[in-house]
Amino acid sequence: MNLEQAKKMDRKAWHKLAGKIKPETRNFIDGKFVDSRKGKRFDSINPVNGETVAEVVRSDAGDVDAAVKSARKAFKSGVWSRMAPRDRMAVLYRYADLIQEHAVDFALLDVLNMGKPVSDMLNSDVPGSATCFQFFAETIDKQEGVVTATAASEFNYILREPLGVVGCVVPWNYPLMMASWKVAPALAAGNSVILKPAEQSPLSGNLMAKLFMEAGGPAGVFNVVQGLGEEAGKALALHMDVDKIGFTGSAEVGKLMMVYSGQSNMKRVTTECGGKTPQIVTGDVPDMDTAIQYCINGIYGNQGEVCNAGSRLLVDAKIHDEFVERFKKKAKGQFQPGDPFDPSTTMGPLVTKGQQKRVLSYIDIGKKEGAKLQFGGGVPSGFEKGAYVAPTLFTGVNNKMRIAQEEIFGPVAAVLPYKNIDQAVEMANDSIYGLAASIWTRDINVAHKAARDLQSGVVWVNCFDHGDMTLPWGGYKQSGFGRDKCQETMLHHTQTKAVWVHLGE
Ligand code: NAD
Repeated sequence: MNLEQAKKMDRKAWHKLAGKIKPETRNFIDGKFVDSRKGKRFDSINPVNGETVAEVVRSDAGDVDAAVKSARKAFKSGVWSRMAPRDRMAVLYRYADLIQEHAVDFALLDVLNMGKPVSDMLNSDVPGSATCFQFFAETIDKQEGVVTATAASEFNYILREPLGVVGCVVPWNYPLMMASWKVAPALAAGNSVILKPAEQSPLSGNLMAKLFMEAGGPAGVFNVVQGLGEEAGKALALHMDVDKIGFTGSAEVGKLMMVYSGQSNMKRVTTECGGKTPQIVTGDVPDMDTAIQYCINGIYGNQGEVCNAGSRLLVDAKIHDEFVERFKKKAKGQFQPGDPFDPSTTMGPLVTKGQQKRVLSYIDIGKKEGAKLQFGGGVPSGFEKGAYVAPTLFTGVNNKMRIAQEEIFGPVAAVLPYKNIDQAVEMANDSIYGLAASIWTRDINVAHKAARDLQSGVVWVNCFDHGDMTLPWGGYKQSGFGRDKCQETMLHHTQTKAVWVHLGE
């Protein structure tokens, strides 16, 4: 069934398929599914009802080592790293098609694992992941070396080569898509890959690896090790024969990746970490209704479990009260928690009960700090079994409060009034993070000046979360370094080699 047919399925049909699914739970190493050496497993839980979806392999350093050996063997053989560019492109194009053709399978796995609405999978995660592989496939034969200017007696050319073995350590909020952002450029550049999915959302990674073989990818090039961060993830990041870790996740663990690199072989590290994204709504916002809708989508979409969730709404004091009233009115009825397998649902549960507890504790902190709860703030009634949190809005927030400084990673928005644009930019920048920001204004000078002054990897003007694969994605400050999507990403997955030839006088 393709993507368009999948979009026509109703809730009953999804549940019927979910009831029958038998996910692959083992590691994928050297082209085969294999158990862990010690036979340990962990439970993968459905956050809607707390039931176990599958018991997944819990890898240790020995399993990671087997995956690294497989990846290294494939890399050295040249079966992928030296494959003719157009042949490598053909595999990745076929692979992108297979992702779309398996839209239903990916949707089932990610919805069961992390509770996101199935319509998000079909409208965003699956097509977005396929496009990501297409985009990086397109870059393969556009990579070029350089011949430098030398004396006639010398000839210097610079080759761009793959790194070798790349470990991809990814989070649970967009399991398929975050893995695609990491794996696609690594493969396109000719590297061998070991994917370590998050333990909360392990299942779609195995399907990704299997489909790579179906697309004609050679064995050993795309491996998956399942397991816990502190075991499998750490072993991968400490491994002496891994050349790079591409990491997406929290800033806390991103920092550990750099420590592990220093403690092992000085492997390259890129990090895509958290955020506390400000949306600045000025007094001359072109269309307040549109801005409010983007503010609503920006914090409640994907349950607020988004690295660039617009969690800080910086609103000109002159329009603050009107903004809050209209926000409350507009938000009513939108993003109502529901069954994620119902195609009309726009908000599922949070990923785990642990994440629910964390978000609820921030709501308590906000109240204790003196912020005013305008709506939400708890578990929606009728959904007590799952890890649900209702969409929540705080006003009366100042930028020193913990709810304005710390990443909550849930559907909690904070409105902060400001007096003038300089103050707004200062507040926006007063954060350890710098992943994204937006400004809503009619004034072109204010827009461009703010875009320069805001310390973040992306600044949107009169929109939020727009973009495509050409948009560099990554942070300033503790939101990490390196970029996903975009052509620059290929530079993070390759290295240069200078070849100096002495031709003689
Ligand atoms: P996390 O940092 O807890 O885990 C991310 C990955 O690291 C998982 O695979 C986990 O198993 C692994 N890990 C955890 N501890 C480890 C350790 N000690 N050694 C090695 N690996 C370890 O993050 P999360 O809770 O899965 O995801 C949420 C975070 O991800 C948020 O902070 C969010 O902002 C961030 N995120 C950022 C982006 C971005 O593009 N900037 C995108 C999505 C998510």
